[in-house]
Amino acid sequence: MLCPCGSAQTFSQCCEEIISGSNIASSPEQLMRSRYSAYATKQAEYIFRTYANITRKTQTIDDIAQWANETKWLKLVIHRASNFQHDLLDNNNAQVEFSAYYSHQGQICHMRENSNFIMENNQWRYLDGDVSENSEIDKPKRNQLCFCGSAKKFKQCCAKVF
Ligand SMILES: [Zn+2]
Ligand SMILES: [Zn+2]
Repeated sequence: MLCPCGSAQTFSQCCEEIISGSNIASSPEQLMRSRYSAYATKQAEYIFRTYANITRKTQTIDDIAQWANETKWLKLVIHRASNFQHDLLDNNNAQVEFSAYYSHQGQICHMRENSNFIMENNQWRYLDGDVSENSEIDKPKRNQLCFCGSAKKFKQCCAKVF
């Protein structure tokens, strides 16, 4: 199966290696992608584990699992990422801005967020994010352009996941 994060690699060669722990995310973008893929494959423990310590206190695995189970993740679009290398210092300002398209209780939604990442225990962690948009989208007809900006028809794009 192709990786849910949209990298065009297979899941096993992309985010699954990071989610399973056999590889670590080398950049905030990789961590972001792996968390998205973990949502898409309903691996709540990984999502919980990759929160920063301070953020983890406000989360529970059950809540994450419930949200992941109720949601179908259609598409991830990375708009901007500060791709610090793992060994560079002062990574306190690492950010990734992304759009996630998902369907929740039959309604397609678009969320755009600018997320903040920090290093903890030598690994990238998700700290928090500013959501700049969270809106419902009308489902297109099959031959209309997809809402995600791919320039493909809906039936050849997010409809395949939907
Ligand atoms: Zn991936
Ligand atoms: Zn699409």
